Amino acid sequence: MSDWNGIVIGGGHNALTCAAYLAKAGARITVLERNEEIGGGTTTWEATLSGYRHNMHANYFHGFDLAPLSDDLELERHGFELVMPEVQQACLYRDGRALVIHRDLDKTCESIARFSARDAETYRRLYQRYGIDNRRFFAVQGFSPPVGPEAMRQRLEASGLGEIAEFATATPYEVIDRHFESEPLRVLFKKLLHIVHANDFAGTGAWFPMLVSNVASATLPVGGAVNLPKALATVVTDNGGTVQTGTHVSRIIIEGDVVRGVELADGSALSADFVVSGVDFPQTVMMANPSNFDEDVAARARNWRWTSEHSLMTLHLALNDPPNYRAAEFDPDVQNAYNVQFGADDSADLVLMLDEMRAGKFPSKPAGNGCTNTLFDPTYAPDGKHVSFWWPFAPYELSGRSESWAEQRERYAQILLSVWRMYATNLDEDNVLGSYLYTPYDIPQHDISMVRGSVRLGAYNADQWGINRPHPKLSDYRGGRIDGLYHCGSTSASGGGVNGAPGYNAANVVVEDQGLGRWWQPFEL
Ligand SMILES: Cc1cc2nc3c(=O)[nH]c(=O)nc-3n(C[C@H](O)[C@H](O)[C@H](O)COP(=O)(O)OP(=O)(O)OC[C@H]3O[C@@H](n4cnc5c(N)ncnc54)[C@H](O)[C@@H]3O)c2cc1C
Repeated sequence: MSDWNGIVIGGGHNALTCAAYLAKAGARITVLERNEEIGGGTTTWEATLSGYRHNMHANYFHGFDLAPLSDDLELERHGFELVMPEVQQACLYRDGRALVIHRDLDKTCESIARFSARDAETYRRLYQRYGIDNRRFFAVQGFSPPVGPEAMRQRLEASGLGEIAEFATATPYEVIDRHFESEPLRVLFKKLLHIVHANDFAGTGAWFPMLVSNVASATLPVGGAVNLPKALATVVTDNGGTVQTGTHVSRIIIEGDVVRGVELADGSALSADFVVSGVDFPQTVMMANPSNFDEDVAARARNWRWTSEHSLMTLHLALNDPPNYRAAEFDPDVQNAYNVQFGADDSADLVLMLDEMRAGKFPSKPAGNGCTNTLFDPTYAPDGKHVSFWWPFAPYELSGRSESWAEQRERYAQILLSVWRMYATNLDEDNVLGSYLYTPYDIPQHDISMVRGSVRLGAYNADQWGINRPHPKLSDYRGGRIDGLYHCGSTSASGGGVNGAPGYNAANVVVEDQGLGRWWQPFEL
C-alpha cells in the first residue's frame, strides 16, 4: 500500500484548494511545502512593526465572492472571510483630480462624467453587460476546463457575448482606446491590466471585458491573506490529511509512465497513487524529468516566459493616520477607496514606464496601486493605528542585477515615499512609524515558483493563455504521458491570482481519474 493516496506538492492556495477537495472526497492526502509557513503568494507578515499585519503578496481577491470554494469548503467556519468595500477604486492624477469607481453604478457614472459624459454612458452600458448581467459567465470560464478558440467563440455567441471573440484579436490597449475617449479612464483600465499582470499583447484583448467584470467587486481578506491557506489547511487536516512545512520536494518518482511518489531534499521518499504539483510548470517538468514529456512540452518548460514585462516593488508603511490624499478635495470618496492608483496620468506615462522597465531602469515616474487595509478591517493594526502599501511596477533586474534591489533597499524606499508624498499630504516623520520595501528580488527568495519576481508565475501572452497554458497537451491539468501526475498551480490553464480555480479544476480531474466520489455540485452558469 502507498504511504498516501495523493501527494500535493507546494502549500500555495491552489495546492491547498485541490488538497482540501480531495481530502473531503475521502483520499488520504499530504501537502508538502518547502517553506516554514504555508501560503506561497498568500502570506501576511508583521514586516514593519510588531502588530502591524501586511499582505506581502496578494491583497485584492478578485472574483472570490463568486468562486465556489467558500461555500463548498465552508471556509468562513474555518476563519476565512472577505469584505467588499463600497468605494472600490480611485485613480489619482497629478493635477489633483481623481476618478472614482463605486460598487454603485450611478455614483461611478457621476464620477466618470466629470471627465467625459460619453465615457460615463459607455461605462454604464459595459458594466451592466460584463459586471452585472454576465459576471458569472466569466467566473464559470475560470472554473471549467479550457476550450479552444472555436469552441470559445461558439460559447460566447450562445451567451450573447459574441463581440468578445472580436476583441480577442486585438491588444487590450486597442480595445480600451476604442471604447473610452478620456485619458483618465483609459489609464485606470490600462493600469488594471498591468495590475493583474497581463500586458498589451496581441491576441489578448479579451482581457478588457474581464477587467470590466471585476472592476467594482474587489474584496479584502479579513485579518490577512494568510487566513485563506490556513482555512484550506484546516479542511485538509479535518479530513484526515496532513500539511507538512519545511519539506522541499526534489523529484517526482516515475516508473515506466506511472507516478510512484516523490523524493524529498533529505533523500527520503514517499509513495503515492497520484501526485498533484501545485508549483510552477517548469519546475514540475524538471522534477518529473523532461525526458518523460514530449519534446515540445519540455521545450515550452525550458523557454517559459516568466513575466509580462514587470514585477512589483511594495512600500509597506505602519502609520498613525491613514494617508490624506490631496485629490480628496476634488472628490472626498478618494479617502474611502479600496484600490488607490497613482503615478501615471496618461497612456504615454505607462508606455514610458514599460520602456524603462524593459531597459532594466528604475521607473522615472513610478506608478502602481495600493491600499490602506485598516480602513476596511481595523484588525490589520493595533487599535487606532494603520497599515498602508503602494505597489509600483518594477523591473526584476536593475542594470542587469536583481541584487541591486536588496543593496539599495533604503534608497529606493525613500524615493517611493517622496513620490507618495506628492499625492498624500501627511506622510511625514511623525505619521510614519515604520516602513519596509519588499522588492522584486525578495519575491523569489520567499516563493521559488515566482521566478524573476513573476507575480502570476508566467506571462499572459497568447502562447501561455487558456488552452495553451502551460501547453496544449497539459492544459487538461494532467501530466501528459505520465499516468497519475496532475498540476494545479498558477501555470495551469486558469492562470494566476487568488481564486483557487486551478486547484478546483485539477480536483475535478483527479476525482474522475482516480474513481473518487465528487461530493460537490458543479459550478455552472
Ligand atoms: C507582490 C505580489 C502581489 C500580488 N498581489 C495579488 C493580488 O492582489 N491579487 C491576486 O489575486 N494575486 C496577487 N498576486 C499573485 C498571487 O499571489 C499568486 O498568483 C498566487 O498566490 C499563486 O498561488 P499558487 O497557489 O498558484 O502558487 P504559490 O502561491 O506560488 O504557491 C507555490 C508554493 O509552492 C512552494 N514550493 C515551490 N517549489 C516547491 C518544492 N519543490 N517543494 C515544496 N514546495 C514548493 C512555494 O514555496 C509556495 O509556497 C501577487 C503576487 C505578488 C508577488
